[in-house]
Amino acid sequence: MTTDRAVTPRIEARADIALMAGYHSPQLDVRVRLNTNESPVPPPEAFTEAMAAAVRRINWNRYPDRAARELRARIAGLHGVDPGNVFAANGSNEVIQCLLLAFGGPGRAAATFEPTYALHSHLARVTGTALVQGRRRDDLGLDLDEAAVVIGRRRPAVTFLCSPNNPTGMTDDPGAVAVVLDRVAEVGGLLCVDEAYGQFSPHTALDLAGPDVPLAVTRTYSKTWAMAGARLGYLIGPEWVVAELDKVALPYHLDAMTQAAGVAALDHVEEMNRRVADLVAERSRLCAGLARLPVKVWPSGANFVLFRPAPVPGAEVWRRLVDRSVLVRDCSSWPGLEGCLRVTVGTPDENDTFLQALEEILA
Ligand SMILES: *Cc1c(COP(=O)(O)O)cnc(C)c1O
Repeated sequence: MTTDRAVTPRIEARADIALMAGYHSPQLDVRVRLNTNESPVPPPEAFTEAMAAAVRRINWNRYPDRAARELRARIAGLHGVDPGNVFAANGSNEVIQCLLLAFGGPGRAAATFEPTYALHSHLARVTGTALVQGRRRDDLGLDLDEAAVVIGRRRPAVTFLCSPNNPTGMTDDPGAVAVVLDRVAEVGGLLCVDEAYGQFSPHTALDLAGPDVPLAVTRTYSKTWAMAGARLGYLIGPEWVVAELDKVALPYHLDAMTQAAGVAALDHVEEMNRRVADLVAERSRLCAGLARLPVKVWPSGANFVLFRPAPVPGAEVWRRLVDRSVLVRDCSSWPGLEGCLRVTVGTPDENDTFLQALEEILA
């Protein structure tokens, strides 16, 4: 007598969620991991020591400081803004999700210019925000005419730029960002510039910020700060933006350890700047190595490089690199990036291993 129960329908997810593929980036066990743009080396030893001491001081029976005051004050100091201009969360992905919860949602739209970071459109969908996807030019640069049309006609509540752009590595010209900001302001929207790789680039949209400017710039500890394991990101924006984000974030979303890690890391700014300079130098060497092979390389302002192998298709090159225990990101099936792969700048040894393997595959 199981029939009655067997026909009980199972609850289905929201139709738009059920149709989604989700976020996929294979985490394979390989020797050389150059697929997720992490720092190739751990944070400084002194940071790890300070962090261990900070963990011993945590009051585990108490909720953490809900407003993350010390962390926000330190981040504000780093950027020369007020603590009220800073919002921090579990990775810049959570920052962006909060931004869309507060300023997007049903009846509103978010605009992206593809190809760009997939989480912007993914989080728009998850938050029930209509998505308007403009295109970049064939050379993958920002198309200002397209931007004017998309923003002017569709009047998105939130417009995303990503500079340096992931996965292309290309940096948007500061003048172009200013033009997009003007268009966004004209339609009463908000511009979010994702600067996850901002430290690797000579430009920042923070130069355009101001109390009445509808601009939010997101940054992360995951890349430059060698702290992808901690999950910490933040936004610099006008107080009226930060105040709304504080309403949609879960209470105590930022745990005590993460807050402590974010504060401790900021005691090592000089060391981090040296590492960024080393990675930028290593990026030049990696690009020079790629230039000697039959691949097309895009100019990078980040800690990764987009390239398209010529004689062997990208997806096949990706598999043969994995056979040699080298993991890069396969972008070959992404619209606009046919045949392309993305490699993170690693240690000199890792980069040599990658270049050597690629040379063999393309020989
Ligand atoms: C890696 C990356 C992030 C970082 O996300 P976190 O959640 O902070 O780890 C954000 N934006 C872009 C474009 C990225 O590539």
